[in-house]
Amino acid sequence: MEDLNPRSVLVTGSNRGIGLELVKQLVGKSNPPEWIFATCRDPEGPRAKDLKNLAARHQHRVQIIQLDTSDPSSIKAAAAKITERLNGAGLNLLFNNAGIVKESNMESETPEKMLEVYNVNVIGPMVMIQVFLPLLRKASQESALKGMSCSKAAIVNISSLCGSIADVLAWDIGQIPNYRCSKAALNMLTRCQSLRYAEDKILCIALHPGWLQTDMGNAPGTAPTTVEDGVKEILKTLAQLSEKETGTFVNWDGKPLPW
Ligand code: NDP
Repeated sequence: MEDLNPRSVLVTGSNRGIGLELVKQLVGKSNPPEWIFATCRDPEGPRAKDLKNLAARHQHRVQIIQLDTSDPSSIKAAAAKITERLNGAGLNLLFNNAGIVKESNMESETPEKMLEVYNVNVIGPMVMIQVFLPLLRKASQESALKGMSCSKAAIVNISSLCGSIADVLAWDIGQIPNYRCSKAALNMLTRCQSLRYAEDKILCIALHPGWLQTDMGNAPGTAPTTVEDGVKEILKTLAQLSEKETGTFVNWDGKPLPW
């Protein structure tokens, strides 16, 4: 089985939920990345306590960096710090994980909610890649690995099957047009990124993480899967991805999903 072996990783929204668990499991690997840039919007706030405790146990390897994905100047400031810490090396694996949803149905949806969610779930991931592209390109160029992989250079956009036009997951549980439309747009963004960055051998994927027990996952009722189990499977899937999957929408278990 292929191994997931990136030298450097960046996760957005890493202070809780899926993002925090990604950092936990990556640093707990037998061959952990040399650098894990655990980014979050408020590193000094109460919601970053668990991440801070984790980073304290893995000093140097887990580095907390302030990054609000809805603020391009914060993204640029984070990229400057990360470039400095990488000291000439590239960034192998970038998780656009940060995401929000606003409770709504077709009647109660508002332009304000639609815009706020689009800003975090779509514009954030777009600006992230524009800003971090030089580091992703560098990682791809300096890698001795053939083809495309998450160990070489990859963008993983954490999407949702709620954004699938063909599937429309869990409509009866929540209509949430702001969220569904934003994830459908994130899927299109992933496709566009894959077309543009194919020549750089940067793998681009939209991934449905499964319905996991996080603050967001539990909001409509208890999710069936623990975040520990879900992230374990996601990391196994990421290890298997190659140029065959770039520009596609994949499930947590690696199966292809309908747009
Ligand atoms: P949580 O609500 O538990 O965590 C969301 C994370 O995103 C938090 O760390 C939050 O930070 C961060 N965040 C929100 N806005 C911003 C921002 N502007 N800048 C930086 N960070 C931000 O959600 P999950 O962990 O469950 O979700 C992670 C991703 O997985 C999301 O994209 C979500 O849509 C997707 N997903 C989740 C599913 C599930 O069942 N859990 C199912 C399908 C998809 P803060 O603490 O500061 O608010």
